[in-house]
Amino acid sequence: MIFFKREKIKDAPPPDWMPAGLASALAEEGYTPHEAVIVRQNSRARRLSLRADVKKRRIVLTLPRSATWLQAREFAQQQQRWILRHLTEIAEQSVVIGAGEYVPVLGVPRKIVPTGKLRGAVRCEGDYLYVSGAPEHHARRIRDYLRGEARREISWRAREKADRIGKKITRIRIGDPHSRWGSCSARGVLSFSWRLYMAPQEMLDYVVAHEVAHLQHMDHSRAFWSLCQELTESDVSKCRKWFKMEGAKLFSYYGGVS
Ligand SMILES: [Zn+2]
Repeated sequence: MIFFKREKIKDAPPPDWMPAGLASALAEEGYTPHEAVIVRQNSRARRLSLRADVKKRRIVLTLPRSATWLQAREFAQQQQRWILRHLTEIAEQSVVIGAGEYVPVLGVPRKIVPTGKLRGAVRCEGDYLYVSGAPEHHARRIRDYLRGEARREISWRAREKADRIGKKITRIRIGDPHSRWGSCSARGVLSFSWRLYMAPQEMLDYVVAHEVAHLQHMDHSRAFWSLCQELTESDVSKCRKWFKMEGAKLFSYYGGVS
């Protein structure tokens, strides 16, 4: 009988948990191995498993609490082909924000055109998105632009809707959460994803109405949904379907290393 050292799972994976073969295969493909494949411990998990996290552009290896790092290492080794294939699929579905690519602005695809100048703000004109500065800064500049526009667009809509129901918004936060389009805290802080600025305007307006309606109803009751519909001209059920079908696509735009 062979006895393995029963190492118990600790919170941080040891740096050598990843098999050397996998690490070098990932590096060869241009990935940072420990960013491309991460381990998550889950006490409810029954077995080791892998999944492709398209939004975060990485592979997640789920480890039950009872499993050892040795098991994780062996499993990752066995699944090397799966891991590489799925990373390639993620890369193929992604759009690197840069010259010549199309990025939707309020639902309309706009072609990214470098102005060739060093200075100048990002401008959206017609079907084009003009960007200045060095090519390596284009992605960040476009992202900052979309984020700023999202803040402007979402803020006035949120304030206008909150006024209609006599509620106060404490603060509006614009971020890049991976699991939700918006949220509302008990203190009246509304948070939104800047990626909403890539969605059609009626979808953005629905999300704003949804979070503002939470200032009144902190649940998803009937009263909540009817208030939500009152606060927007968009068709709420159509919007909800749209986010289910199309929402994930808005996460395929990324600006490389940020
Ligand atoms: Zn909600």
